[in-house]
Amino acid sequence: MCRHLAWLGRPRTLAELVLEPPSSLLVQAWAPRRQRYGTVNADGWGVGFFSPGRARPARWRSARPLWGDPSFASVAPVLSSGCVVAAVRSATVGMPLEESAAAPFTDGRWLLSHNGRVDRAVLPPVRDAESTVDSALLAALVFDRGLDALADTVREVGAADPRARLNLLAADGTRLLATTWGDTLSALVTADGTALASEPWDDDPRWTDVPDRSLVEVTPDGLTTTPLS
Ligand code: GLN
Repeated sequence: MCRHLAWLGRPRTLAELVLEPPSSLLVQAWAPRRQRYGTVNADGWGVGFFSPGRARPARWRSARPLWGDPSFASVAPVLSSGCVVAAVRSATVGMPLEESAAAPFTDGRWLLSHNGRVDRAVLPPVRDAESTVDSALLAALVFDRGLDALADTVREVGAADPRARLNLLAADGTRLLATTWGDTLSALVTADGTALASEPWDDDPRWTDVPDRSLVEVTPDGLTTTPLS
């Protein structure tokens, strides 16, 4: 994915998180402000979100541009969640164009999005990848190793492919985990909850930039950032 976001906090509608802010993911799909690789994110989108009483997230993905999906726009104002991962995609050259290549990927309780690229040849064999896109293979590897090993997995893949970009964003309904490795990520901590996003979705002065090569963990108690290397 080329731009992604996550929210952990008081329930918000998917429209409030993804469509309505002045520089929402919807706007970032055609006019990102900080994207270093690619210009538009028109190769699909996805939203995964948790609901009370359900252990596994619900997920809605598409291979179409987010701006070309009036059905999502009509339903998003009435879907609310306290834990959301959403992404818009700019496909890396040579990668498949299909719904199953759009983040977030999922395994059990976890949702995971990847902003970046990795040489598929350096990745160890994995089972159950959702697509042959590099991001799905990487997601399957992260799920195999376990999210508690996320920092080690990113360091290992980064060492195997020095040109890899590995900004990952994951959620399990109770916490968010993210890495920065080659691309941008910003954080907004408010009394209502915490957002992580490839770039700020508005001009709120409380947005802060996460340094490159960091591991970020968000729980209801707050946000911690740890250097990855
Ligand atoms: N490599 C991934 C893909 O092709 C993600 C691309 C990106 O972050 N722009 O979907």
